[in-house]
Amino acid sequence: LAKGRGRARYEVFDDDLRYRIHQRLDTELALRDAVAQGEIETWYQPIVDLQENRVVATEALARWRRPERGLISPAEFIAIAEEVGLIKGIGATVLSQACHAATALERNVAVSVNVSARQFVQDDFGAVVKRALRESGLAPDQLWLELTESAVLEAIDSAARTFQELRAIGVRLAIDDFGTGYSSFTHLREFTVDLLKIDLSFIRDLERSEHDRAIVEGILRLADSLNLDVVAEGIETTNQRDLLQAMGCRYGQGYLFSKPTPSASPAVVFAT
Ligand code: C2E
Ligand code: MG
Ligand code: MG
Ligand code: MG
Repeated sequence: LAKGRGRARYEVFDDDLRYRIHQRLDTELALRDAVAQGEIETWYQPIVDLQENRVVATEALARWRRPERGLISPAEFIAIAEEVGLIKGIGATVLSQACHAATALERNVAVSVNVSARQFVQDDFGAVVKRALRESGLAPDQLWLELTESAVLEAIDSAARTFQELRAIGVRLAIDDFGTGYSSFTHLREFTVDLLKIDLSFIRDLERSEHDRAIVEGILRLADSLNLDVVAEGIETTNQRDLLQAMGCRYGQGYLFSKPTPSASPAVVFAT
């Protein structure tokens, strides 16, 4: 009896695994044509100045309009694109769309583009960025690049020069999801950046968690002494915004102000 049950369980597992492998291959195959078919879209979510209630930038967020499946979120395809070597093309597409869209913004509003490690460890990453700027006519100081801590770690050796080159022409560098990676503080010493984006996991429970408030305050103090600007991600409530404002956090982003939308200049709600 035990043996029979074991086999049945094994078959269920087997079917499930087979299904998932099939799904994965199917996604990979479809993703290979996505750029050429024009299926990669860029959506935008504003970053606001919490002290002055104005939009300072808008973050470009990739979306895949997959035929017969609808709009696919980056969580479902960016990691796959990185693994199978498609992130270069997708990343360059988003960068180009974002730079073009940003030329319609006011001169003091930037566009912030997510860049994965696989993208910028390539030799020509600097050239890709400069081409996107040249072809769109966007001013370099209207472009921010967001890198995660783990990506920065990979880049310290191979991409440090590229980043210095980009910073020299005015592009600003941000560390995304700050606080979730390893040894966050070492990176700041070895790698010059302009902005920290505090991961939304520290903002979610800000009202209830003294612990999270202490971490955010620590990050703000550190950023202040290193002369870095800070963006708090994932602000959903006026309470969270008020707390961050009171702590002296300059910038914020989240559903409270606007969800990502297809327009680079969405309506922003500065609720009171
Ligand atoms: P991220 O760069 O940290 O972007 C923030 C994510 O949080 C976005 O999800 C955004 O829609 C979501 N978000 C914004 N405000 C709130 C809020 O108030 N509450 C909650 N719960 N979530 C909020 P999205 O668009 O699904 O993107 C997920 C991740 O995919 C991004 O995280 C980024 O790491 C990656 N990604 C997106 N576009 C690109 C891209 O063009 N290139 C690369 N390499 N990665 C990308
Ligand atoms: Mg980001
Ligand atoms: Mg983030
Ligand atoms: Mg994130």
